[in-house]
Amino acid sequence: MPSSVTHLVCSRCGRTHDHRERQHLCPCGGPLLVDYDLDDVARRVARHGVAARTTLGMWRYLELLPVEDPARIVHLGEGGTPLVESSRLASRLRLRSVHVKDEGLNPTGTFKARGAASGVTAAAERGAGDVALPTAGNAGVAWAAYGAAAGLSVHVAMPRDAPATNVAAARLLGADLTLVDGLISEAGRLVAEGIASRGWYDAGTLREPYRVEGKKTLGFEIAEQLGWRFPDAVVYPAGGGVGLVGMWRAFAQLRDLGWVRGEVPRLIVTQSEGCAPLVRAFESGAEAAEPWERAATIAHGLRVPEPLGDRLVLLAIRETGGTAVAVADEEILAAQELLASAAGVLASPEGAAPLAAAGRLVGRGDLEPNDRVVLVNTGSALATGWEDVPPLP
Ligand SMILES: *Cc1c(COP(=O)(O)O)cnc(C)c1O
Ligand SMILES: [Zn+2]
Repeated sequence: MPSSVTHLVCSRCGRTHDHRERQHLCPCGGPLLVDYDLDDVARRVARHGVAARTTLGMWRYLELLPVEDPARIVHLGEGGTPLVESSRLASRLRLRSVHVKDEGLNPTGTFKARGAASGVTAAAERGAGDVALPTAGNAGVAWAAYGAAAGLSVHVAMPRDAPATNVAAARLLGADLTLVDGLISEAGRLVAEGIASRGWYDAGTLREPYRVEGKKTLGFEIAEQLGWRFPDAVVYPAGGGVGLVGMWRAFAQLRDLGWVRGEVPRLIVTQSEGCAPLVRAFESGAEAAEPWERAATIAHGLRVPEPLGDRLVLLAIRETGGTAVAVADEEILAAQELLASAAGVLASPEGAAPLAAAGRLVGRGDLEPNDRVVLVNTGSALATGWEDVPPLP
């Protein structure tokens, strides 16, 4: 059963590319996105058909995913994470409702599992034997896990100061790990050498078209778990911003299929004040982000000074009427504690940032008392190494 994918399209110049072949960036340098024939999807499955499925996790949306041969899907139990409603957080923030999408329950402890599942599946379908990526930590661990399951060799470059649990997990999972003096951008330059000289499959953020498709399922799940309704706003901690771009596409597909009515949610990005290129670009009205100098934050996954998907993220925020807000690391730590003590959710610093942001957004009127808000906790405290988090003063 072939997928309903029709082709790949460049998000910058609009040129189309054949999805059956190995594709990375467009010759113009733009990331490629996957296009589907939604009429074909609608012929194959209806909303109630999806709802009736016993398949848990992200593959219940199979017809909206880029898989040619379902028998070859590489899976470890990704997706199907809880959407936890917290009336305690809602009353504290004075919002109609607050749900936490708890991505910490994914394999390897972060939502990177979704992108790795779809990305590794697609790479294997296209005959890749060696995949390579730079990472702040969690993506490297997730790709190492799915690569191990698929029998691929995974080459990972990670900052030397990445959380110790990330380093240990990547090694345990058999990745060929290089620690780099510098940030994810330097790691990227190193990986590029191996790709050029040894023909490794480039699995860097948005440098292949399929990671974002896995992350997209986060949006499908949020809508389905709310009873096929959109929330008013989703607050997301952005590094490269792939998860946000994925949700934007998911919500548009659900709307275009007629599976969910009403306005798509306002997409809200949060970053740390120590590395906030997307927030700065949004506030200045720019279409693209400038590289952030001397990036530093306890939220390692948000330490992405030059996000390749900047234009797409900014478009997603503006098209949905969203906004962007930076929060201080101290606010992230306080939110981490509040999320644990008031909602029972053990979030990583990245995953706690949306709660910190929500406080500010209520204060400045970007979230209103009648809003139903989803905060995305992108990863568990257990996965990203809280031994690296300095104690509260
Ligand atoms: C990677 C990561 C992020 C940022 O995700 P992007 O898709 O790059 O924006 C946020 N939180 C955690 C825990 C991560 O690992
Ligand atoms: Zn192009």
